[in-house]
Amino acid sequence: MTPGFGPPPETRAACVALDAEDPLGGLRELFRVPADLIYLDGNSLGVLPRATPGRVARALESEWGEGLIRSWNEAHWITLPETVGAKIATLIGAHAAEVVATDSTSVNLFKVLAAALRMQATDAPARRTIVSERGNFPTDLYMAQGLIDLIGATGGPRYELRLVDSPLELTAALDAQCALVLLTHVNFKSGAVHDMAALSAHAHRQGALVIWDLAHSAGAVPVALNRDGADFAVGCGYKFLNGGPGAPAFVYVATRHQDRFSQPLSGWLGHAAPFDFDPVYRPRAGIGRYLCGTPPILSMAALDAGVDSVLAATELGGVAALHAKSVALGDLFIARVAARCAGAGLALITPRALAERGSQVSFRAPPELGGGYAVMQALIDRGVIGDFRAPDVLRFGLTPLYTRFVDIWDAVEHLAAILESRAWDRPEFHQRAAVT
Ligand SMILES: *Cc1c(COP(=O)(O)O)cnc(C)c1O
Repeated sequence: MTPGFGPPPETRAACVALDAEDPLGGLRELFRVPADLIYLDGNSLGVLPRATPGRVARALESEWGEGLIRSWNEAHWITLPETVGAKIATLIGAHAAEVVATDSTSVNLFKVLAAALRMQATDAPARRTIVSERGNFPTDLYMAQGLIDLIGATGGPRYELRLVDSPLELTAALDAQCALVLLTHVNFKSGAVHDMAALSAHAHRQGALVIWDLAHSAGAVPVALNRDGADFAVGCGYKFLNGGPGAPAFVYVATRHQDRFSQPLSGWLGHAAPFDFDPVYRPRAGIGRYLCGTPPILSMAALDAGVDSVLAATELGGVAALHAKSVALGDLFIARVAARCAGAGLALITPRALAERGSQVSFRAPPELGGGYAVMQALIDRGVIGDFRAPDVLRFGLTPLYTRFVDIWDAVEHLAAILESRAWDRPEFHQRAAVT
């Protein structure tokens, strides 16, 4: 049972009726969801908001085309990273001056990892481990290892990336050696949610700092960074924030940490006075020092419209209401798979409880289904877009802004048909593409 939505509907007609009553149902009109497509991949690339082409066209034709360089001031391009960051802040429980939209998630991870390590090198110099999960999104681990290697190769202390496999191991790894913990709030494969308040409090008691990756949280799951004691956070613009392919990411730094160190990607736009062209770097006060180079204005304009598309739910209960709906969509998905695909061997890996589930459902596919890659290709061929995460995970993102209950019903009917007919087992569905 989910607040406001009740138990999953048991007929297709009941889904249609639920969609008609859904207080969030009207939000779908804000998006260009292609006809005949059931799009369950908004956690990888959000759907185009209807407002975005106009917003980008304005940046292109009027601001760039007519305003040219004057637009840095007159169209407020120069402060766009902060204005968009302030909007994102409202979705993640942060103050406006704690978030900027900039660079990619990977690059922002490097900045906050480095800033946090410098803090600990001063406050707790004996601590040498960065703790994360083996199941974390790989770029998070790669960026941490890259920073560790750089520090080691230039004669600094030898840090170690310590990877754990279970919550129990995670708690144990937060010991007197631990400098930082790097965690992704919603696991990208399973959709399981960490308890941010409890883990942050535990890390702090042990003397460690916490960096939260909100890639699958921002705009989808209630997040309260300040209430829950986060130190640093990063997240993606192109997933649930609907900012478009390769949209700028965001970075959050708790006010109490902002002025302690400048991050090492000390580009001129993080300088206190970029247009003084001072040969010596002097960081800006506050979150602005987490900027590096010139912001990509066209992408930033699209991100601005994307964030607005999520903020459109504010009056309707905001992210908490969106999350409640996505869990109801997930409950329906899980119930329909149990009813229609029993025997296929799909194993749910997403937790059932509201507080433990992000905005997706994932199933592990058994070896008899070839690990599931071809099943997803066959689904996409029928107009149901989810994604596949190696080695064997079928992942369905449930963006409540534009996904209807009837879409879930129909998606599982397609899945059942593919499994029953073994239509997935055609050679063309086994061809691996570069992006899955
Ligand atoms: C999607 C995702 C990223 C992506 O990072 P980019 O730098 O935008 O490619 C990083 N971390 C997590 C947890 C993700 O889910």
